[in-house]
Amino acid sequence: TTDSTALVYRRHGEPSQVVQLETLRLPALEAKSALVKMLAAPINPSDINMIQAVGGNEGVGQVLEVGSQVQTVKVGDWVIPRNAGLGTWRTAAVFSEDDLVTVPSDISLLSAATLGVNPCTAFRMLSDFESLMPGDTVIQNAANSGVGQAVIQIAAARGVHTINVVRDRPDLQQLTDRLKAMGATYVIKEETLRKPEIKDIFKAGFFTKKKVCPRPKLAFNGVGGKSATELLRHLQTGGTMVTYGGMAKQPVTVPVSALIFKDVKVRGFWVTQWKRDHKHDDEALPVMLEELCTLIRAGKLSAPSCTEVGMKDFHKALDNAMKPYISSKQILVM
Ligand code: NDP
Repeated sequence: TTDSTALVYRRHGEPSQVVQLETLRLPALEAKSALVKMLAAPINPSDINMIQAVGGNEGVGQVLEVGSQVQTVKVGDWVIPRNAGLGTWRTAAVFSEDDLVTVPSDISLLSAATLGVNPCTAFRMLSDFESLMPGDTVIQNAANSGVGQAVIQIAAARGVHTINVVRDRPDLQQLTDRLKAMGATYVIKEETLRKPEIKDIFKAGFFTKKKVCPRPKLAFNGVGGKSATELLRHLQTGGTMVTYGGMAKQPVTVPVSALIFKDVKVRGFWVTQWKRDHKHDDEALPVMLEELCTLIRAGKLSAPSCTEVGMKDFHKALDNAMKPYISSKQILVM
């Protein structure tokens, strides 16, 4: 046997239109593989969803029309997805009211479009792992990410210091100034974090003019690899590192000494899971969104630095979204 007849989809869309029969050439049998003649295979709902998939997990839209029994949204409301997977990169869609949450329309379009994921992640991580008091410190890497910028601002609003680690770049000073304007206490490049003098930040009275931070109770890791290990080294005894992203695609190595002598806690967070866990809680998500909107209205939480791109220029937006050191979130505007 050298050929196989297969149902293939090369683009997404209505399954009956995009799925086609194709003859595929079978690859050569390798030492650790087996040639299998398929006998039966079901078509599951998730298969249909995968074929129909529209990209995009967050965004804001305006309700144009509602069904006769809809109670939670009304025409004219601004709405965001209740959770991931709705497919927001499109000009219009029919969604179930259960999949939508209303947001106030007196915040900026960019704030609303980016409200549901990054600020919620920052909010939960600052709230659910350690009880932070004004004057406490949080350390984070990928500090210029969407999540990082929200962490800086929400922490600052609570009087919590942030030590913000970013990758070196030609315009580091500009980035540093921007993050400090948002409320960052310190902005430090990855290399500096490895130097012994970093400890001076934590020494009372060392800097006469600069702010002295206590050692961090909490660390947020969006990178992994060495960067995460460095965060752990600076934690307080008993402190927690929460991993929420792995941009460097490297595993997290926990030094034995951090566990034995500092008893650090190593945790993880996924906002999609948090939203699933609170799906039947009518209050949790709206209460958090309301608190975030209060910060937005007070000028304490701004949207991350963004570039608006027309939908027809999506190729450019996707390319830019994958480039390093861009420091600007690409936002499709329909
Ligand atoms: P952004 O696009 O806003 O920012 C990306 C960040 O990653 C930038 O700070 C960028 O820094 C940094 N970065 C990119 N490549 C590397 C690398 N190789 N090493 C170190 N840093 C790197 O992203 P988001 O804030 O939207 O998301 C950040 C991470 O958080 C992602 O991994 C995402 O999947 C995750 N995330 C997780 C959530 C959860 O619930 N667990 C929720 C939301 C996001 P630079 O400017 O130097 O390129």
